[in-house]
Formats: sequence, C-alpha cells, structure tokens
Amino acid sequence: MMKGQELELYVHIPFCIQKCKYCDFLSAPAKRQVQNAYMEALLTEIAGKAAGCGIPDVRGELPEEGQAPVRERPVCSVFIGGGTPSAVEPAWIGRVMEALRAHFALRADAEISMEVNPGTVTRKSLRLYREFGIRRLSIGCQSADEKELRTLGRIHTFDQFLDTYRWAREAGFDNINVDLMSALPGQTIERACRSVEAMLQLDPPPEHLSVYSLIVEEGTAFCEQVQAGILTLPDEDTEREIYWRIADFLETNGYEHYEISNYAKAGCRCIHNCGYWTGREYLGFGLGAASLYGHTRFSNTDTLDTYLADPVHSAVQQETLRVQDQMAETMFLGLRMADGVSSGQFLARYGVEPTVPYRTQIASCMRDGLLRVTDAADGGTRLVLTRRGLDVSNYVFAKFL
Ligand code: SF4
Repeated sequence: MMKGQELELYVHIPFCIQKCKYCDFLSAPAKRQVQNAYMEALLTEIAGKAAGCGIPDVRGELPEEGQAPVRERPVCSVFIGGGTPSAVEPAWIGRVMEALRAHFALRADAEISMEVNPGTVTRKSLRLYREFGIRRLSIGCQSADEKELRTLGRIHTFDQFLDTYRWAREAGFDNINVDLMSALPGQTIERACRSVEAMLQLDPPPEHLSVYSLIVEEGTAFCEQVQAGILTLPDEDTEREIYWRIADFLETNGYEHYEISNYAKAGCRCIHNCGYWTGREYLGFGLGAASLYGHTRFSNTDTLDTYLADPVHSAVQQETLRVQDQMAETMFLGLRMADGVSSGQFLARYGVEPTVPYRTQIASCMRDGLLRVTDAADGGTRLVLTRRGLDVSNYVFAKFL
C-alpha cells in the first residue's frame, strides 16, 4: 500500500579503483572483504530505516500526524551513487535492489539510476544491472580527450567509455546520462566543446548530459598542483565562455538546459535531482549519506568503522529546519532550475509570496538584471535567473541565506 507524499532514496557506495586527482567526495579504494562487509551493513540499514529506526522524529511504527509510515510512502526515485557503485561485485546491486523493493513502496514507474565508471563494467555486468531493475545509467566520462583524462587521474580511456556506452545500449538502457567536466587545466574553448560534440556523435546520443565546471577543492591532488604552479586553470572569462558555448550548442541540438549544469532531451530530466532541487524528502543509506525527512536533515557518520558497527543508528549530524531555513532552501535550490521558483507554490507552502520575506533581495537582483519574472503555467509567476544571474549564481544564492 502506498500512502503519503513521495519520497526519494539514495544509496551511497563509497568505493573507487583509485582516487581521481580533483575528487573530494567521500570515496576511496578498498579490499573486497571491506566492500562485502559494507554492503551487508547497507542491507541492514535499509531494513532498519524502513522500520522507522534511526530516523530522527520518527518513533518506531508511529508516523507523524497525517504522515504515512516510511515504508508505505511512494518512492518515485532511487539513485545508487558513489564512489563507483560498479566497483563492487554486481550481485550486491541485485541484493540492494531486492532489499529496497522488499522494504519500501517503490512505484512501478520509479526512476532507478546507478552511476558506473568505464573500466569497471563489462557487457555481462551491465546486462545484470538491467535485470536487477536499474533503468537509468549515469556514466562518468568527464572528457573525450585522452590527455585530459590522464590529467584528471581517471582510470579509463575514451575508448573504454565508448565500449561502456555501446554495451549499455546493447543491454537495453534507453535512458543514459553522461557526466562531463569543463574548464579543465589548460583547456581551450575549442577543446572543451570537442568533448561535448563527441557525445552528440554517439548513436543514439545520451538522453541527458551533466557538464560541471571544475572546482578545485582543498586537500585534493589538483589543489596542490595548482598551488605549486604545475597546473593552470582557465581564467574566469574563459570559464564563462566555455559554459555558454556548451549551453548554446546543446540547446541548439535539442537539449533543454533545465538546471545550471544539466541538459536533457524532452521528458528525460533527472527525476531524482529535480526532487532534490524542489525540496522533496529523501532518505540516504550508506557512509556519510544525507537525508531530509519531515523538516529534519541528518547525515550518517563518515567514519567507516562507526558505520559498520551500527549502520542503522549512525546519524551524527541532525538539524531541524526552521520555516525561514525552508524558505531560503526553496529559493536557492529552486533558482538553480530553469523553471525557477513559482510564486503560487511558495504561497501554497508558506502562506506568503516570496516577495514578502525577500522583498529587498529580489528587488536588488532585479535591478541588477540577475533575476526576472516570467509567467507560470498555473497562471501565476515564476522568478528565474537571467543569463547574467547564471554567471554569478552563487552570489545570488547567498542573498537568500
Ligand atoms: S570515480 Fe568519482 S568518486 Fe571515485 S575518485 Fe573519481 S571522481 Fe571521485
């Protein structure tokens, strides 16, 4: 039985073959034995959380007033991410899917995505993922240029990506995302565009593309190399030019630029990510996984031994969002999307239009040409970032914090 509001599920598999030079995600190489112990713990956590254990504000079987127990809420999307989920034995993905289906109310048409990396999959493993019920693949390619792939510290070549993509299509995947990165060290506008063009030459091209500008994070190998002057990043103007050349090229070729870094063919937006940007509740399983349940945000421990010792009760950070926090999130997450923030939906949720709590911020952004108002399908209006606003999106978001 499915009751209550839709919910999303995220499963984190934190293992990789080797650490990419730019990566600050919670991921690392690990021996098979550790991977197996972790995957067993994940199954325990899935069963435990479905029973309401380890979720702040949900006491056993007693739902909050008006809300269904967690295991009865319709699940509209599952995302198995990492790390590299395809680094563990494929059978584990089958067991995770079995556990999710046994303990949660997955909708028949739920989007079920999994991240894979070239160099960690075979024809056979991709066929197995499909049999286990994975419907959408997200393939980490990052670049079509061999030299760039080596600079990034990726474990694969572009040819290996091409094999992965072909095998995925042969296995029946008809909804594929490819991750690319731009503004890489020494990258010219032409070279950045070549990687995107290579995606459009695939037959058929991916239904979805994520193109993220490189951000050099503290503590990564890249950070040290940039500080030592070994790597030089494109300047800000070049980074923005690369961004817009890619965005315009993809829009001309039939992709909707529906979020700052995301592009989709009609009907192929990522349901899971859209849910996150529009404030849908989600439960995360695994090391460091974050959840938003009710108005409470919590995260699992990021220490492996602590997680393995008690995967169900490993939440270490917990914060109950006040109404003003929820409003701020609605603004800065909603503005990431081309649809922006609907005044009508904001009013329905908070009892006021966004211009009431954010009169000054909205007025100043509109005066500076960073925000504009457009008509919404419900007859109301929407606030959206302008092209100029997209160039300084972090500055705009900070105004609502
Ligand atoms: S494969 Fe992804 S998660 Fe793993 S090290 Fe590389 S960027 Fe990080």
